[in-house]
Amino acid sequence: MDTEEQEFSNLRPKGKPLTELHLHAGAGLPTSTMWSIAHDQGIRLPFKNYWDFKDFITITRDRMMNLDSFLHSKLNPFHWCEVIQSSPEAMERTIYEIAAKAYRSSNVTKIEIRFTPMKRNRSGERDLDHIIMSALHGLDKVMLEYPVRVGLIFCLEKKFSKNLNKITVEKAIKYKERGVVGIDLAGYDSGNDFHADDMADIFKMAKDAGLGITIHAGESKETLTVTDAILKLGADRIGHGIQCIHNQEEMALIREKGVTLEFCPTSNLILGLADGIPGLRRIASTFVKNNLKFTINTDDPVFFQTNLSMENKFVLDNKILTKSQLNRCIAWADQASFIDY
Ligand SMILES: [Zn+2]
Repeated sequence: MDTEEQEFSNLRPKGKPLTELHLHAGAGLPTSTMWSIAHDQGIRLPFKNYWDFKDFITITRDRMMNLDSFLHSKLNPFHWCEVIQSSPEAMERTIYEIAAKAYRSSNVTKIEIRFTPMKRNRSGERDLDHIIMSALHGLDKVMLEYPVRVGLIFCLEKKFSKNLNKITVEKAIKYKERGVVGIDLAGYDSGNDFHADDMADIFKMAKDAGLGITIHAGESKETLTVTDAILKLGADRIGHGIQCIHNQEEMALIREKGVTLEFCPTSNLILGLADGIPGLRRIASTFVKNNLKFTINTDDPVFFQTNLSMENKFVLDNKILTKSQLNRCIAWADQASFIDY
């Protein structure tokens, strides 16, 4: 069953209110809505019909991709989602729909949605402030209609120049009072000339302004390490961080600094980063054994055909976590959220 059907088969979700901390807007909008937005805007898509588009967007365990091609090939799903979402109208609808859907399908009442503003303005053709304001209108609208609190996280990119990333931080600070709650560093660093030291001062600028810092790190062996993300960039939370299980010192640092890990089980599984279900069990049990705080997240729900209640069911059904361990993760997600309203 996919997430769109799930919504109708599960009209009133049971269970406690949930918090989602790690969800990319580019992979959060239902395919049918994306298809409709693309047509509204006259975007010429390289797909014969809706079903070809849906097959392309959906990444299942039968059609696994490695992290590099997932993020960087010209035919990666993010590329088309970013093209489709690159207008003020599309961004308003994107934020609205993602939060509304998370509430209806999984009783998510607190949600942080992340995106890269610099990838939504068609390389400067569209006004960045206009795109951001539209995303904030979507946030206002959904908070008016549903009992849900929404915050935006702006992503910096490892492959962007420092100047481009600095502009993103300045925009995040400018819109902090309106609902931008933090910044992230995303993208794949292998093959790029990325050095955490070069970006340290702009992360400090964000932190000094009161923004939360979450960083994609330790997702695979090739990515930025969790240690660098914490010590050089001041991360409060880490996206994934699963490589830390091989490093006692790193786990001690995470514990000492009170950093929370955003664990995304289905994403790690489908992108081949976890060594199957036994690998996911190993990761979770090592987190538990070492007293690390971690949360369950969807990462890219539409690509992976999941939502937060399906993720929670997945970790219980596959004995990755016990019910009481999952309840602890749910509480940690609420505590680690950057949303203070
Ligand atoms: Zn992510």
